[in-house]
Amino acid sequence: MIRICSSVVLVLLMLPVKLIPSDGAYFQQYVRYRIVADLQLDDHSIAVQETLLYHNQSPDTLSDLFFHLYLNKHRKASLALPELKFDTGGIDLHNVTVNDSLHEDYRIDQTLMHLPLNAPLVPGDSLQLTFKFSAVIPPSTGRYGYQGVHYDVGNWYITPVVYDRYGWHLHQHLDNEFYQEWGYFRVTIRVPQDFIVGATGNLLNGNEVISPDEFAASDRQRAEYADSVLIPWEFEADKVHDFAWTTDPSYLRKQVEWNGTTLNFLILDYNEESWHEVTDWGAKVVEYLSQTFGRYPYKQMTVADTYIRAGGIEYPQLVMINDFINPDYEPGEFRAVIIHEIAHNWFYGLLGNNQLEHEWLDEGFTTFAEIKAMEYIFGTEGNLEMRNRGWYAEHFGYHNDVRRDHLLSYLTLAKFNQEEDPIDLHADYLGPNGYTLQYSKAGNVLFLLEYTLGDSLFALVMHRYFERWRYRHPYPEDFIQIVREVSGCNLHWFFEQWLKTDRKLDYAIDDFRLIDQSDSLTYLIRLKRKEKIFMPVDLHITMADSSYQVYRIPVDEFGCKRHDLLTLPSWHFSRPEYEAELAVPARIEHVAIDPVLTQMDIYQLDNQSSLFPPMEWHFMHTQHIAPPTNAYLWEIWPLVFYNDIDKAKLGVNLQGGYLGIDHVTDFRFWFKTATLNLDFDLKYQQPVGWLGDLSWINFRGYVLDGREGGKIGLRRRLNVEDYSDIVATLDLEVHHLSDSRYLMNAWDPGWVSDFALGWQYSDTYDGWMPKHDFMMEFRTASFGSNYRFSLVHLEVLRKFWVEYSDLEMDLRLFAGYGTGEVPAQYQFNLTGENSWGEFDNDFYRAKGSLPWPWRRKGNLYKAGGGNIRGYSLIRDLDELLGIKILALNIDLKLPSPLRELYWPLIRDMYPGVFIDFGKVWDRSWPDLKDFDVSAGLAITWEVWDWLEYFFNMRSLRLDFPLWMNHVPPGAAQTDFRWLIRLDFN
Ligand SMILES: [Zn+2]
Repeated sequence: MIRICSSVVLVLLMLPVKLIPSDGAYFQQYVRYRIVADLQLDDHSIAVQETLLYHNQSPDTLSDLFFHLYLNKHRKASLALPELKFDTGGIDLHNVTVNDSLHEDYRIDQTLMHLPLNAPLVPGDSLQLTFKFSAVIPPSTGRYGYQGVHYDVGNWYITPVVYDRYGWHLHQHLDNEFYQEWGYFRVTIRVPQDFIVGATGNLLNGNEVISPDEFAASDRQRAEYADSVLIPWEFEADKVHDFAWTTDPSYLRKQVEWNGTTLNFLILDYNEESWHEVTDWGAKVVEYLSQTFGRYPYKQMTVADTYIRAGGIEYPQLVMINDFINPDYEPGEFRAVIIHEIAHNWFYGLLGNNQLEHEWLDEGFTTFAEIKAMEYIFGTEGNLEMRNRGWYAEHFGYHNDVRRDHLLSYLTLAKFNQEEDPIDLHADYLGPNGYTLQYSKAGNVLFLLEYTLGDSLFALVMHRYFERWRYRHPYPEDFIQIVREVSGCNLHWFFEQWLKTDRKLDYAIDDFRLIDQSDSLTYLIRLKRKEKIFMPVDLHITMADSSYQVYRIPVDEFGCKRHDLLTLPSWHFSRPEYEAELAVPARIEHVAIDPVLTQMDIYQLDNQSSLFPPMEWHFMHTQHIAPPTNAYLWEIWPLVFYNDIDKAKLGVNLQGGYLGIDHVTDFRFWFKTATLNLDFDLKYQQPVGWLGDLSWINFRGYVLDGREGGKIGLRRRLNVEDYSDIVATLDLEVHHLSDSRYLMNAWDPGWVSDFALGWQYSDTYDGWMPKHDFMMEFRTASFGSNYRFSLVHLEVLRKFWVEYSDLEMDLRLFAGYGTGEVPAQYQFNLTGENSWGEFDNDFYRAKGSLPWPWRRKGNLYKAGGGNIRGYSLIRDLDELLGIKILALNIDLKLPSPLRELYWPLIRDMYPGVFIDFGKVWDRSWPDLKDFDVSAGLAITWEVWDWLEYFFNMRSLRLDFPLWMNHVPPGAAQTDFRWLIRLDFN
């Protein structure tokens, strides 16, 4: 056996496999499929008999064929899913024939199959293959799968690898994109009686399979269908490159017509009400896209409500939508996903580009079409807004629209230089930010192309591209060639910069003034290019008489011009600055760079001539969730607070920022009604390039509840993984106690100034892995400090949990070591957070904000420090503090049967058990028996959303340290004791 196998491999190695065609002229292969597929509910498989006529229309003689077996992605330890421990799907191939004779000389490697031919296939000739196999469907995944008796069936049959002018595209399927040959499909799908099928192509026997009572079949279980007779659904699809289907006994059908095309909506019965709106606008989408890009040529398109787990997925004439996307809750998202997938029928369906090697050709164009269609049908403002959000959100909620959403994705990446890759890159090579590049960035680049060419030329380009390349395999150069042809311009510079680099766009109006008013008025306009991307720049000029003029500054003097615009002298890319003198009849009021050009500008506050940047103001608004991309955002919040010394504190909070990234400010002012004083807390943060990407400088100054101080700090994120964060900080801080009446914890007088160096690692991943947090801080006195000291502390958190349950364990280790004269506010507290940590929080900062009697008796604490619960009740403060500490806390969160009741309050409570073990000391190591231990029960209440929203409060917790090892003489170790604590985000 072994000898035979190795000789087969040797023979294969020696045969010259022709992988690349001899000349690069365009051709495409042709494939005719005859498929009979029987759905088998018992093992979620499809018995398939596939006959394939492969017609070699290339100029080359082929001695081999290659095929995709995409479903083999679900084999255990596949390249796409290396963590799979057993097969969840795949293709079990029973036999292969070539021209009617059994063919056993083939080899399958993961998702690819190599089939050497016995006789070469010459140009113009064809051969017939048959495959008998069982396609095992996995449980619902991103693109396909089953759930109960519902089946979404995509990428399920054996299909030839594309052989085109660039040769064979032998890519293993890593769960990215697809590329298939054009052809004809005749498919018989046999499903149990009462199942409704939606598929690519046209249904041939509709009057046989669709009965008048097709709506009666819902709520039946698989067992009821198991012995049911299989009913054949006959489909025919021509001029398509893929065939997919979906089936469910509970599907409800709605139909709308547009110009001879039927739009079929297959809706899961429980979504019937909420999907109602699709019939209002579905046809408009097909109409708009047909007019904008080219007519939809097929007789039908099906939009199906399915159990796929991606938002939506496109197949020719069939798109599947995730049933989680709830049109009642987020209609904008629902509409955008459906429109996106429908638009794929142009960019992918009809223009069958190589999705894997040039993903932007389908995703970028589709995103562009999605934005345009959403704006056309639902308006430009707020078309992504949510519905049914309650009174507060209705009046103070954020606004978002599809265009802003895509711009935000791109700009937040680009501003920190985190794109990593250019747009035009093989989909399998892209990093975690590939989605933003292929969708958001590429989609917006097409808006810039439209801007460069002008609307009418751009429309011509799109129509010509569609006319010439539909039913074919276009590559980027084919689209670029059409642009060249239609415009007569060489836009090489445009595509080179946007597709092949991750360069950024950033223009500014540097100077604008009147320089001569003797005859006519002459203005000087100076522009600056702060980043590398160069583009033609349109200046929008508003005159005092409110007339309006657009001037274009082209990129070259003799190159292409926009004849519909006034032209200024060109701006050569080698110059970072540009100056123009403009003689005009009337006074100029305002100059701005074109809003479409600047929508991809990474800093849009300096793109116009006004003294102040454009600003948006909101009162008690949540706009920061989707901030404007072209204005500085201010949010104003009232502040009302209380402590025993000032009584009521009334104030205002101004939060500002550009995209939440630039010039981020947080200013708070309070008027203190009892003392008639003012408190303030000013914070400012700005990214700095000189320290590397993802670096910030920050400042703070405050006079706050009897303390004053400030800091200058640097912060740098050291990794860009999306599931973990490593952050390093360096701060120079100074603070001083000015009024000790506010204190609720130990605090030494005088000036303290120090350097603090911090290092933090945290997993943000919240799947099934244990979660880790690691925090280390080193602090040492700096110049001018009244205290000379150094201290370091370390905190490690590890969370464990049992999948799909409320059972959870938190393990926490806290250790600290100090030397010298450590001020009391920095000393470690055995029972909770120290004073410095409490000062950070509004509620724990001053006496009386939380009930003072609780605190005085030791019942109120803030999580942190040693966290050895209960000792605050029985020891004086000076016994709880020390400059050395070691502590271990174990917290178990338990499932609560009461949570199932869904009663308010009780629903959000869970019980817990804890045990703490630790010690603080100042000099020599303590004995093990000196360590303090406590154990008890806890109840945590995950507070109402509005408390989290307005006060950042996460939970309220009661701890009952029922047992403690060290108690005063005469007291019992086991006793009823209680503590309360508030946790904040
Ligand atoms: Zn897409």
